[in-house]
Amino acid sequence: MDELIYYGQKMVEEGLSFATGGNLSRRLDGETYKITPSGQAYASLKDQDLVTMNLEGKILQGEKPSTEYHFHQGIYRAYPEAKAVVHTHSEYINILSILDKPLACIHYLMAEAGPDPIEVAPYASFGTEDLARNALGAFGRNKAVILSHHGLVTFGSSVKEAFSQARTLEFCAKIYIKALSIGNPSSLSIEEMEKMVDRFKSYGK
Ligand code: 13P
Ligand code: ZN
Repeated sequence: MDELIYYGQKMVEEGLSFATGGNLSRRLDGETYKITPSGQAYASLKDQDLVTMNLEGKILQGEKPSTEYHFHQGIYRAYPEAKAVVHTHSEYINILSILDKPLACIHYLMAEAGPDPIEVAPYASFGTEDLARNALGAFGRNKAVILSHHGLVTFGSSVKEAFSQARTLEFCAKIYIKALSIGNPSSLSIEEMEKMVDRFKSYGK
């Protein structure tokens, strides 16, 4: 089974998306990538349902790519180190997204996705070039961005890594929101977060 399907199923099983929400892709080489199909349930996906595309939006193999291929392709163009992209509709991230509230650096694990608070990209309709432009404009030094009234996008050096970031950021959004309900959570300093990003380069490798 292709790892896009394995992690797509895991995404639903772990409650990071539901129904046909979210999508995943992985880079094949400098010019092409494979992406999940549009509107299909992950549980029944077969390897042959995946779609191969180039970075100009041309379908090379398969039929109906995810409607979000614009931001997947945009990330591969902008970040040569990006080998995989994961997009989820997880619950606590979406609470922040509808408040247009960035995820503050409240836990060292957030260094998986970068040193800075995770920003909320301005809203645009799903599947549009505007959404891709807004998302690309909000990564900054991070490898993750919250989409206003929509969800989360992460990229990494593998599908496993991009997926792990989505799971970690959902956990951090959950504890942040719970902490906000009873007090004022403090943030880690940018210096400490930068140090943690360095530590993560070798952690578990
Ligand atoms: P696709 O099924 O086209 O990938 O769309 C799901 C989604 O999450 C849109 O943002
Ligand atoms: Zn979506």
